[in-house]
Amino acid sequence: MVKIPRGTQDILPGTVEKWQYIEEKAKELCQRFQYQEIRTPIFEHAELFLRGVGDTTDIVQKEMYVFKDRGERDLALRPEGTAAVVRAFVEHKMFGYANQPVKLFYTGPMFRYERPQAGRYRQFVQFGVEALGSEDPAIDAEVIGLAMNLYETLGLKKVKLVINSLGDSESRSAHREALVAHFQPRIGEFCADCQNRLEKNPLRILDCKKDRHHELMNTAPSIIDYLNSESTLYFGKVQQYLQRMNIPFTVDATLVRGLDYYNHTAFEIMSEAEGFGAITTLCGGGRYNGLVEMIDGPSTPGIGFALSIERLISALEAENIELPIKQKVDCYVVSLGDSAREYSVKLLHQLRQAGFAADKDYLNRKAKAQFKTADRINARFVAILGEDELQNGKVKVKNMENGEQVELELAQFIQQFSELSQ
Ligand code: ATP
Ligand code: MG
Repeated sequence: MVKIPRGTQDILPGTVEKWQYIEEKAKELCQRFQYQEIRTPIFEHAELFLRGVGDTTDIVQKEMYVFKDRGERDLALRPEGTAAVVRAFVEHKMFGYANQPVKLFYTGPMFRYERPQAGRYRQFVQFGVEALGSEDPAIDAEVIGLAMNLYETLGLKKVKLVINSLGDSESRSAHREALVAHFQPRIGEFCADCQNRLEKNPLRILDCKKDRHHELMNTAPSIIDYLNSESTLYFGKVQQYLQRMNIPFTVDATLVRGLDYYNHTAFEIMSEAEGFGAITTLCGGGRYNGLVEMIDGPSTPGIGFALSIERLISALEAENIELPIKQKVDCYVVSLGDSAREYSVKLLHQLRQAGFAADKDYLNRKAKAQFKTADRINARFVAILGEDELQNGKVKVKNMENGEQVELELAQFIQQFSELSQ
């Protein structure tokens, strides 16, 4: 038997409703915050991610699904959303839109060749937003607020927001020099990736999973000490806004996003729920004022975040939160006898055309089995059509919540059923 590929999952009825609920809430929130949906392709030119994610990152070096198509083009399944959104922003000249900043959101599958474990899949769904065209620290707070709001809306209590600043490019290059000076003398003790990163992007050494316990990690120069006055001011403003919005946070100077064009605000949201497991990061985001230029657009500031629905669902489970998923069957049509069964096709169709969620038996089952089904699917009402009723132009309708039963006129069924079920 052919099995599902490693690191992927089937989301079956019974579980998919959770996904739909979360995606729906995310969409509603984006509407409230005035972020509009953008849909980009599942695959892109691999080069987009080399530039947009960076060739020193794990994502590009180890995790990307790259392939040649039949025309010998180098393509990649998208490992994340930001690069593609920025490509579309540039390609469609959205920087020229009258309404700025351009505020976008996306939801969809991302692909990374990772070692599968709890909370880590090879295909996973990210929800993310990007706000392009404003350098106001208030938009940083807005983006963070949107992510926090989603977790709150879904009922999560044990989430923690951690923020940091990477400063502007002046601050970053001062910090970079200090990092190189710090690691250079003993870089031989670090992994090959870190040795490579020293020249290309020393900030990423701080993010290394292999060498994270090396003693030089703790003593590494902190970005906070290298922020120039403008960057400090910017970071202060972001914090002030978060305070005004009553969003609690902690500052962690070791939180980094390793790419050259990341600057100022960086943030992560983690779950502190017991039993959530080793991977606690639910959401990561930050400001990327150099990215649009990197993808051949005009210099445009931007900020965004991405979170995965998989980890969000794990966090809900860790906090034992049941989402209020509504049962949706308005009416189950039970028929007794051949002509009633034939007539039930019409009745069912009328219900559906009138906007009701309805179903009937298709296996020619006995009345008892039909009622059982109605029960199992939690139908609010059961319409019972027997030969006698049919002859008299009637149909019985039973309210499954209180057991009350009434007789409706077949000729006015929809109208009467509508009144009954209000
Ligand atoms: P990690 O350090 O856990 O690998 P990351 O830095 O690679 O995370 P990002 O690229 O910032 O993650 O992606 C944003 C969010 O997407 C993460 O915070 C996480 O919630 C989710 N995510 C990332 N990789 C996966 C995956 N393989 N499976 C499920 N969710 C993921
Ligand atoms: Mg990762």
